[in-house]
Amino acid sequence: MNAIEEQGGVGVAIIGGGLAGLTAATILARAGRAVALYEKSRELGGRARTTERDGYTLNMGPHALYRGGAAAPILRELGVRWHGKAPQQSGYGFARGRLQPLPTGLRSILATKLLSGGAKREYLTLLPRLLRLDTQPLRGVPLRRWLDRTIRHEELRQLVLMLVRTTTYSADSERLSVGDALAQTKLGLLGNVDYIDGGWRTLIDGLRDAAVAACVRPAADTRVVEVVREIGSGAARGVRLDDGTVIDAAAVIVATDPTSAAALVGDAQDIPLSSWAGRAIPVEMACLDLGLSALPVPAANLAFGIDRPLYLSVHSAVARLAPAGGAVIHVGKYLRADERTEPEADRRELEWLLDLVQPGWRERVVARRFLPRMTVAHALVTAEGGGLAGRPGPAVPGVPGLYVAGDWVGTTGMLTDAALASAKLAAETILATVPTRAALAATA
Ligand SMILES: Cc1cc2nc3c(=O)[nH]c(=O)nc-3n(C[C@H](O)[C@H](O)[C@H](O)COP(=O)(O)OP(=O)(O)OC[C@H]3O[C@@H](n4cnc5c(N)ncnc54)[C@H](O)[C@@H]3O)c2cc1C
Repeated sequence: MNAIEEQGGVGVAIIGGGLAGLTAATILARAGRAVALYEKSRELGGRARTTERDGYTLNMGPHALYRGGAAAPILRELGVRWHGKAPQQSGYGFARGRLQPLPTGLRSILATKLLSGGAKREYLTLLPRLLRLDTQPLRGVPLRRWLDRTIRHEELRQLVLMLVRTTTYSADSERLSVGDALAQTKLGLLGNVDYIDGGWRTLIDGLRDAAVAACVRPAADTRVVEVVREIGSGAARGVRLDDGTVIDAAAVIVATDPTSAAALVGDAQDIPLSSWAGRAIPVEMACLDLGLSALPVPAANLAFGIDRPLYLSVHSAVARLAPAGGAVIHVGKYLRADERTEPEADRRELEWLLDLVQPGWRERVVARRFLPRMTVAHALVTAEGGGLAGRPGPAVPGVPGLYVAGDWVGTTGMLTDAALASAKLAAETILATVPTRAALAATA
């Protein structure tokens, strides 16, 4: 028996036990709704899962929480506690295989050989302009077009591309909306980010505890195979589990990827889920997650590619992720959805970067995991789609009572900020229509 059956009432069924599903479940349950949450994997957490290997705490690729984004206040509101620190903003940039100071302050701008004298002067006038820029009117403009029109020096364009890649994870400058990309870059530069002690599992555990305290019993290892709809009205009336059980619910939130969401609801002309899924361009990364017994070069904590879409950061430099003396490094290559790369070649490129920044790392490997093509976000924020304003949901037109949540949904934020903001909006919209557990019991 699941929680809803035991309570003998209908409430809200949530599909997906990642950050979005857990957030929606907690908000609804705290407001007295009977909630059932189903996760097909054995473990909750989705892409925010963290693995322990020999005392090393590995997120699934590099994860950083935007301090000024939408997610942090929602997590706080739900009582989730975490401790994190910002990575230092200085480090290396590299071009043509040479490490140079990353131009982040006046001293490093003057010192770096990444920019010519003219490009440095242009950068010094561009940076304050960028930080003040009203980005909204630029939502429909592709990043590449804006760069070509706005910035004179090619090496400065490459530097801005690197800053945008680092904060949005997107390497597709032809399609990315410059308005939303620059807003995200400002969020990173002005507000900074936190690397989290204990990894992102801290957030998952905190959300799960908050959900359980509000009487949700998340059901892991339970796959939903269908969103059940009413004959006639087409409204969502529950979910079917893979053992055939149908769980009645007054509303359903699908907190999965867009393709799974479309498959769960099925094809119908009046439902836009398949076209949402078809339009979504995934933002992807090849990730090499490493635990080292010690850092060969302790001061080299951060390196970003200027002429190659590569990233390296020692997350344990500021967050508790490794045993004393050890280090956790995340290395990544930003991938474009329209370019198929060879995973082995990507892995070698990531190792090349480690050789450049941390020579001698191979002898110190304790934990290693290569994830050739992780989906960082399910939908690139495109200029063609009108930027964030053009993203779908959370309500699904044509299916009363059906909502979606995730990093591809709603008009707020990117990445986890989008996942949590859309989950909150979906939950709060449902509160207006689905009665509390107590009200249902009174009418039963
Ligand atoms: C390499 C990498 C780096 C990232 N870095 C950052 C970062 O620095 N900052 C940031 O803010 N975000 C980052 N993200 C993004 C962040 O991890 C995601 O936005 C967030 O975890 C999405 O949560 P979600 O719940 O929407 O989706 P998911 O975590 O994908 O959860 C969806 C869940 O639904 C389950 N599911 C699917 N179908 C079914 C079904 N039929 N029945 C039951 N369950 C089902 C899945 O198993 C999954 O657990 C990164 C992601 C990656 C991969």
